[in-house]
Amino acid sequence: MPPAVRVRIAPSPTGHLHLGTARTALYNYLYARRNKGTFVFRLEDTDEVRSQENYTQDIIDGLKWLGLNWDEGPDIGGPFAPYKQTQKIDHYTEVANKLINRGHAYFSYETPEELAAMKEAQKDTDIAHRYDNSHRNLSKDQVEKYVAEGRIPSIRFKIEEPRVISWHDNIKGEIAIEASVLGGDMVIVKSNGVAIYNFAVVVDDIDMKMTHVIRGEDHIMNTAKQILLYEALNHQVPEFAHAPLIFDLDRAKLSKRKHGEAVHINKYRVDGYMPEAMVNYLAAMSWTLPDGKEFFSLPEACEMFDLYKISKSPAVFDVQKLNWYNAHYIRSLPIELITERAKPYLTLVETQTYSSSELEQIVGSVRDGLTMLSEIMGATEFYFAKKLQITDELKEKALSKDSAKKVLEATLKHLGDFPFGDHAGCKAVVDKLGVELGLKGKDLYWPLRAALSGKVQGPDLGAIISILGPERVKSRLEDILCLCA
Ligand code: GLU
Repeated sequence: MPPAVRVRIAPSPTGHLHLGTARTALYNYLYARRNKGTFVFRLEDTDEVRSQENYTQDIIDGLKWLGLNWDEGPDIGGPFAPYKQTQKIDHYTEVANKLINRGHAYFSYETPEELAAMKEAQKDTDIAHRYDNSHRNLSKDQVEKYVAEGRIPSIRFKIEEPRVISWHDNIKGEIAIEASVLGGDMVIVKSNGVAIYNFAVVVDDIDMKMTHVIRGEDHIMNTAKQILLYEALNHQVPEFAHAPLIFDLDRAKLSKRKHGEAVHINKYRVDGYMPEAMVNYLAAMSWTLPDGKEFFSLPEACEMFDLYKISKSPAVFDVQKLNWYNAHYIRSLPIELITERAKPYLTLVETQTYSSSELEQIVGSVRDGLTMLSEIMGATEFYFAKKLQITDELKEKALSKDSAKKVLEATLKHLGDFPFGDHAGCKAVVDKLGVELGLKGKDLYWPLRAALSGKVQGPDLGAIISILGPERVKSRLEDILCLCA
């Protein structure tokens, strides 16, 4: 029986959670759930210069927001703490020493200046930049000389050439890489004792018994190097799957430099996107349900996910498409949930002074017109306003005709007929008044909309009247009638 599936997301806390990393996390999560496996979260935090605690928190918050809960963590820091590479620095050194003892790695004593000079000398040649492996076979005397000079060595792993490294990739199919393009013997532990990514990742994936490594295709060259390390450590190579990268509509890779905050999950979290929409869109970018259904939930995706069906072609991020998904979820998720999520965006409102049912009605009346929840304050402000601002433009547009006054007066007169609390019932009363006055369309609705909401577009008029209630409708109509007089 094959071993139980174990997969991981292994971001480096050197930036906010990127859309591409979130999508990789999602694929790993789905694969684990589909196969009743284990999803692990590991922070690759060995880059001591660029790693930051606030990025760690952002990545944790982003994964939790998306609902991609991981199944294991270290014993410290609570159930949601990720594994961290910095917690096992000494272990990497031990494994590196093992590689030295077995003849797969060696101490390399070049100074940064010497390495820079090597790079410079290769600049005008046909050779792509690579380490020339010159410290692979240093004599005892040379080593003693370097040590006497006080040089601190790094540890390099031998990349033997010629050799073709090949594997069957679960997304991309057969891949073959010539070892000579890998840049020569590679540093695995820097002179300051810190293991570099390509080495630490292999040690960790072995220690954590990973069966599948699912990640972005920008790691293909790394995979070739990592396969050599697995071999040198006498360990079975996991299955690899490299997902296509995400591009923008102009076919440029999504990057912080070009697209700014739009590449970070955090931006969408803050702007009031629904995690359900983000998950659905990220999954749907390169994968479709067998029945082609466009809207699907995380649990549905877990049941149906098929790694081998992920498209090989680049994924395209189109914010309009994401907005379309988001508007769908804002419209269709339970109103209690949307109202709860909307509360932080109702910044000018003391939401605790309203009952849940009042807030749900208010949110419910506008949600069809929202792309993201951060728009909700603007859309609902008129419900909460003490006094509406009526601009000259609005007066001209909706209140200048004689018929406008008639509509407002008739509504005031028949206020007792309105079944407040019943949106459709309130709308029916307006339409009945319209028949009596011989008015319809803009002539009937716009004066009321302008008087009650300060604009001519917005939620259903019946909902506006029904939610505002008799007192506020009365005082708003009276205020406007003074203005029209
Ligand atoms: N720290 C690497 C990254 O964020 C992990 C890649 C991997 O999954 O091995 O790209």
